[in-house]
Amino acid sequence: TIGMIVIGANTTAGGSSTNGALHKVPGRVGDAPIAGAGVYVDSEVGGAAGTGDGDITMRFLPSYQAVEYMRGGMAPEKACQLALSRIGKKYPDYHGALVCANIKGEYGAACHWPGLDKFPYSIRNPTVKSTTVEQVDCQ
Ligand code: ASP
Repeated sequence: TIGMIVIGANTTAGGSSTNGALHKVPGRVGDAPIAGAGVYVDSEVGGAAGTGDGDITMRFLPSYQAVEYMRGGMAPEKACQLALSRIGKKYPDYHGALVCANIKGEYGAACHWPGLDKFPYSIRNPTVKSTTVEQVDCQ
């Protein structure tokens, strides 16, 4: 999945695109196009986008949940962590990662991915002139 959050001066946008799951059944709709699952934004708060096991992801709407955590004042990385941990509690073998950004330009990510050490994500902002790849540890 390619998920993206864009924080503009007055608006926030997000997008998600995926090949889908391996060996998916024809016609399967994954989490990417489901608002709140693959991606969610609110111009008053920020946005979140994810990747991973979409069949489980879409039962929990972690992108929506993370944005709601940020709406309450939580830092993006913590919001990502908490949203994913809600899934991990019910599905310990779940694999997924989430990136979160708020309208102040703060950002972070979280990863719950058994067997994966680190999750890379890209960031670009006015102070970081070229696209930079950062990593977050997977739980
Ligand atoms: N989330 C995608 C899906 O389940 C898969 C992926 O992240 O690559 O359709």
